[in-house]
Amino acid sequence: MTPSEAIGRLLRVARGVSQAKHFWFATFALCAIVLASVVYVGVRTHAPRYGDVTHERVLAAERNPRQWLTHYGDYRNRQYSGLEEINVSNVERLGLAWSMDMDTNRGVEATPIVVDGVMYVTGSWSHLYALDARTGERLWTYDPEVPGAYGPRGCCDVVSRGVGVWRGKVLLPTFDGRLIALDARTGAVIWSVDTIIDRSRAYTITGAPLIANGVVVIGNGGGEFGVRGYVTAYDVETGRQLWRFFTVPGDPARPFESEAMEMAARTWNGEWWRYGGGGTVWDSMAYDPELDLIYLGVGNGGPWAQSVRSPGGGDNLFVSSIVAVRRTTGEYVWHFQQVPGDEWDYTATQHLMLLDLNIDGELRRTIVQAPKNGFFYVLDRETGEFISARNYVPVTWTTGLDPESGRPAIAEGARYADGPATVLPGPTGAHNWHPMAFSPQTGLVYIPSLELGEAVFARDPAFAYNPLDVNVAVDFANFAYPETQETTSAIAQTLRGDLIAWDPVAQREVWRFRHRAPWNGGALATAGGLIFQGTSDGRLIALNARTGEQVWEFFSQTGVMAAPVSYEIDGEQYISVAVGWGAHYGLEWGAFALEATGGLPNISRVLTFKLDAQGQLPPGWRIPPQPRPAVAMDDRHTAETVARGRLLYTRNCAACHGGAAISGGVLPDLRNAGPSVHENWNAIVLDGMLEDRGMGRFADRLSAAEAESIRAYVLFRAHQTWGEAQRR
Ligand code: CA
Repeated sequence: MTPSEAIGRLLRVARGVSQAKHFWFATFALCAIVLASVVYVGVRTHAPRYGDVTHERVLAAERNPRQWLTHYGDYRNRQYSGLEEINVSNVERLGLAWSMDMDTNRGVEATPIVVDGVMYVTGSWSHLYALDARTGERLWTYDPEVPGAYGPRGCCDVVSRGVGVWRGKVLLPTFDGRLIALDARTGAVIWSVDTIIDRSRAYTITGAPLIANGVVVIGNGGGEFGVRGYVTAYDVETGRQLWRFFTVPGDPARPFESEAMEMAARTWNGEWWRYGGGGTVWDSMAYDPELDLIYLGVGNGGPWAQSVRSPGGGDNLFVSSIVAVRRTTGEYVWHFQQVPGDEWDYTATQHLMLLDLNIDGELRRTIVQAPKNGFFYVLDRETGEFISARNYVPVTWTTGLDPESGRPAIAEGARYADGPATVLPGPTGAHNWHPMAFSPQTGLVYIPSLELGEAVFARDPAFAYNPLDVNVAVDFANFAYPETQETTSAIAQTLRGDLIAWDPVAQREVWRFRHRAPWNGGALATAGGLIFQGTSDGRLIALNARTGEQVWEFFSQTGVMAAPVSYEIDGEQYISVAVGWGAHYGLEWGAFALEATGGLPNISRVLTFKLDAQGQLPPGWRIPPQPRPAVAMDDRHTAETVARGRLLYTRNCAACHGGAAISGGVLPDLRNAGPSVHENWNAIVLDGMLEDRGMGRFADRLSAAEAESIRAYVLFRAHQTWGEAQRR
């Protein structure tokens, strides 16, 4: 009943009783109803509603594109905006409307959520910002105070890919594994839960939660550290745990959590549970509201080397698989394993997209993915049936997929139980977490792809499990980076980052836009016929979705990894993206990262654009060249010590400070360390002297002698590169 209907009915009642002795009571009641109606209408009309995301609203998101309500924009995960004010013919008028500088300067991967003029976006260290989406003004911020010491428990920077918003709450996952519900209007904490089952192991969260009709689902990271993968579902309203789905089996001496785990355990050998087994759901999930199914993208096996994890082989379910479970119970429905017995870090965690495709004259409800292993998969999302797959980059790990089942034939020599193996793609993948986009106008999926060369895998003969260490059981000597500028430059020429426009029905490439360097941003498709994507060399660009022709660009002063979104306020369309260089490639591939950016630093910011805006960024800057080493080498720094330090550095330090001790511009370049750093080396490295700044303590991973050999290697590299620079 609307307020006016209620008033009308009450008037009729009032007329009926006006002769009766209850006249005054009726009059009072009438006044009360009228007053309540006025307040109700006033609240509906004038007071802003915060975080008003409902199941009905998300279902209607495709018809009403003015908001960006979910991580990928809608329930289909299309990364598509139906707004068309900004289009191919006027995009050159697009300018900076506002920018908002974040409080941190590490990698930024978040996709903002925008609801009724309010933007919710995360920076590194899980910092959350609620912004006026028209001006960028901060409404409130929230710092979950992730301990700096937690940083080295993640493989790939202290990143966050964003939040979920539902019925007045913002759901914030934190890097140290909590899930916090905040009041969308005030930022006050409503509930907080610990999602981690075993705090003695290195679990993290970097992914955004999935919210499926009131059920919030979150997975964890840690596949390289030796954890057991799972996702947990909570009631958004209360934080009460609804179910938990494990992706790999636990110790078979204890009861299995589900029939699915009993089934999965038959595909494992040895004592896998001691090492965790892997299978973390660290990035993409999806929800089909008609089937009421949730889809999980499951990560690599852990440790990587299958001969350690599951000696004698086996498929090792559900590593490298897409798994469908029921929303209400978490009960297993189907799975499709892309890489049986994975041992190359081939995650199936990448962007899951739900598309209804016309295949052989039949409309099929499909789920599509371009995972790390280099194939574009199309599956039936009701049954998990394999429909088709085709490689979108060169691959050597398989000789081909079975056309009926999609099961790959593993190439001879790709496994490394008996000796080193060289494969394409490497562990960074052919496509990582960067969101794809789909345009219903073109019918194409846009894949931010990577071609980073072959990787050499060999089992580490000295591997011993340490719960807080990296536990991949491969020989890190093969992952050492080149130490001369000449070799680095030669390799950099061969590395590619493309945006591939892919026809998911015909399974073929339609066009490809080659970027200047790898590790570019996620994509956004719009009804204006445009694809927006950030680049590693510090730009946001727009391409014609049909042709791949570049039609616009803006210099962002820092590398862009995250995906843009679009929304509308008062009839004006906005494009917004969170920028800030870093993450796996920006940190570990330091020398190549510098080549990609041309020496741009991390500047963590939200940039927002609209037509005819004239905004300017403050002046940017470039990373200064490496100075002369501040400390001399001495007798202790023998070639043997340096060699030992190189291996330990590659294993323990390179993931953040950069391969070959070259920083990619985010964290301090250790070659530039001053005398005080060298004097306090062991206090910093072993005892956590700089924990507050995110430099963890490594006493449980390294001895004093090992820390000293790492110092020797860093010093060696400082003198080596300085000498090389002087000769040029
Ligand atoms: Ca991994």
